[in-house]
Amino acid sequence: MDSFIDMHVHTTASDGTFTPSEVVDLAHEIGLSAIAITDHDTVSGFAEAERQSELYGMEIIPGIEFSTKYKGRVHLLGYYIDTKCSELLEELDNIVKDRDKRNEKIVDLMRQDGIDISYDGMKERFGEVIGRPHFATILVENGFAPTTKDAFEAYVGKGKKYWLPRSTITMERCIELIRIAGGTPILAHLFEYKYDTKSLQELIEYCFSIGISGVEVRHPSHTLEQMMFLEEQCDMRGIVKTGGSDFHGSVKPDNPLGVPQVPHSWLREVRKAAVKI
Ligand code: AMP
Ligand code: ZN
Ligand code: FE
Ligand code: FE
Repeated sequence: MDSFIDMHVHTTASDGTFTPSEVVDLAHEIGLSAIAITDHDTVSGFAEAERQSELYGMEIIPGIEFSTKYKGRVHLLGYYIDTKCSELLEELDNIVKDRDKRNEKIVDLMRQDGIDISYDGMKERFGEVIGRPHFATILVENGFAPTTKDAFEAYVGKGKKYWLPRSTITMERCIELIRIAGGTPILAHLFEYKYDTKSLQELIEYCFSIGISGVEVRHPSHTLEQMMFLEEQCDMRGIVKTGGSDFHGSVKPDNPLGVPQVPHSWLREVRKAAVKI
């Protein structure tokens, strides 16, 4: 029988609350045979996860998640990337610097409302890649909201008081970068964007016209019907399928590791599509 895997996992290297080692331990505990580390804008969690996986003989796939510019927000995932690729690392450096600019402004806004934080302090506590879940955590700690989910709804979600946009790279550049690093580019959580059917169709076609290899079929934001529909479409058209939980630990308690289930056999096509340009 096929074992199960999780191809969408965040760690403390970005905005998850489990260290790479802790994620690997948990994956082993629940019986997963492979996981992909897909932190936002960084590959720095991979090496530790891979070291820890040697204890269990588990496969760790080096991955990444990018936020890209399209009509709205669209996330792309990259798999089997070379985490030492210098062009990728340089671009990631720039993206993180851009995050820093936005984040410093968010810190100013929160300080104006009496929250005693500094950006240096946040970096010391949370690491190099600071995201909105970290601000949500601070808001909870300061009594502004009971949970991080509430903090998103009231303060850091799009258009709210402590939300500020950040510039993101284009989908074309993102796909190019994933290819330069020898990886497989995948369109993430299609149904999370809440596009109408026509826009969704346009997005999919556009992504394929610019070289995407596949779509994330299984994701907690997708209904069972949506997952079945996507799987059928992929199988019919020979498109690569992926899936994962988007695990973030305690900042996203509704996304447990390993849910929805994804069969190990899906990895074969993802690996086959990993072609360097
Ligand atoms: P950023 O990239 O810093 O703008 O933060 C975006 C990240 O916030 C997403 O990738 C999610 O990990 C996280 N996020 C978005 N909405 C929520 C939510 N309602 N609860 C927890 N985390 C969320
Ligand atoms: Zn995240
Ligand atoms: Fe995402
Ligand atoms: Fe994610």
